[in-house]
Amino acid sequence: MVRMLDVTTTPAPLAMEVDRPASKPPQMWGPPPSGGAQLHHVDIQRFRRCHRDGLALDAFGNCERCDFLKAEKALRDTRNAKLGMVVGAVALVVLVLGGWWWSGRQERAAKVAAAQIAAVNENKLVIYTMQSCGACRLARAHLEKRGIPFVERAIDQDPSAFAELEKLNPDRSVPTFVIGDEVMIGIDPAGILLDQALAKRGMLPAPASAPSSASTE
Ligand SMILES: [Zn+2]
Repeated sequence: MVRMLDVTTTPAPLAMEVDRPASKPPQMWGPPPSGGAQLHHVDIQRFRRCHRDGLALDAFGNCERCDFLKAEKALRDTRNAKLGMVVGAVALVVLVLGGWWWSGRQERAAKVAAAQIAAVNENKLVIYTMQSCGACRLARAHLEKRGIPFVERAIDQDPSAFAELEKLNPDRSVPTFVIGDEVMIGIDPAGILLDQALAKRGMLPAPASAPSSASTE
């Protein structure tokens, strides 16, 4: 009776064992893994993220978006630097040309004023002076010694002389000479430049006392 019972009860549990497939994962008890929390945890562990935009970094630890923005900025900087250089170059050219034009303009205006003044003074040498000016005394002495006729305009005594000087010489320094349409400012101690300018216009009388240098005329 005991043996009979043994025979009948053993086959059933054996059959159940064979039916179960070996590949089936072990059954889990409790709540199923609700995607989010567990996946997120794995993701954060596996990928390092950019601290700026939170995007996953690549195998080399670089953020694609930040790399792109960096490249874009570098390109922009290069373009701006080039533009700055072009603007600077243009500004420099404008400045130089403007200065050249301005100084030329002043010089041309002075030439026109000089020609008018020379005409008014019968094309004689005109010299603008001031009483307290040593170089003016020197110029006067130089001209008188050589017998060169000149018209003296004292800017400290004649307001119209001062007004003329302003047109000829923006610095209003004395002595200033008008030789034809040429304006000459200042005089060297020996008056050599003044003599040269006068000689060029045939305004230098043949010097009796001058050495061999006058033989060219
Ligand atoms: Zn980034």
